[in-house]
Amino acid sequence: EEEIPEDHPRYQDLLTRHRIEAGVEKGITHLQGMHAEGRGSAFDYLLGEETIPSADEAERAAAAQLLLADRPVLSINGNVAALVPGEMAALADAVDADLEVNLFNRTPDRIEAIAEHLREHGADDVKGLEADARIPNLDHERSKVDADGIYAADVVLVPLEDGDRAEALDEMGKTEIVIDLNPLSRSPQVADVPIVDNIIRAVPTITEHARDLADADEATLRAIVEDFDRERALEAAEKRIRSGEL
Ligand code: ATP
Ligand code: MG
Repeated sequence: EEEIPEDHPRYQDLLTRHRIEAGVEKGITHLQGMHAEGRGSAFDYLLGEETIPSADEAERAAAAQLLLADRPVLSINGNVAALVPGEMAALADAVDADLEVNLFNRTPDRIEAIAEHLREHGADDVKGLEADARIPNLDHERSKVDADGIYAADVVLVPLEDGDRAEALDEMGKTEIVIDLNPLSRSPQVADVPIVDNIIRAVPTITEHARDLADADEATLRAIVEDFDRERALEAAEKRIRSGEL
């Protein structure tokens, strides 16, 4: 990371790619994570590599949802762990949520490596190692979750999530917050709160909103949730990508 000059016009994109590479080398990110990163990067380029106003609103609604939740869980996959481990730990802290490792290509080694990586970045408790419950309507390996984690959660943050699992979690009745740069992907399409933004910008912004709302009463948080319009957020992102207009 030290080698990339901060004034490079594509600094953030280079940093992101470098972190995914390092994640693959460290055994926490699957090689396929590089392809996911490439797709995300293309959409981010079209968004102007900035948090558009509708994404910031979604990030505020996400903070409100997480603060209102009884059992919020933040889901971590190999790309999330490579890109924002400390930032996810900080968000978990700010909203009192659990972190749970949940992988598309699940292996015990990778789960253990990611849990260790998260602990190195300030996470104190990491779920996902028990895998003692199943998400209905998903194939075996991808359905594994912790009974006292994602399975029992009322609000889940699932960044860069695969469409099938996002749909299956939605069918379980969970309030789903998705971070995904492609507004047309199935995951944001089924989300209660779709955040079309780079996870590198989105997670710290959700945390900032959560800190800002820490003392807000329940009525204020509920009003933020009610005022958020998921269709409008998806349309605004698509419009920006297609036309460059806000
Ligand atoms: P599917 O149609 O099955 O959902 P997909 O193209 O969405 O396929 P996945 O690997 O399931 O592929 O999902 C990766 C998603 O994560 C993509 O939509 C991509 O745009 C998004 N993405 C990748 N990197 C980032 C990032 N840094 N921040 C936010 N979203 C990202
Ligand atoms: Mg997708």
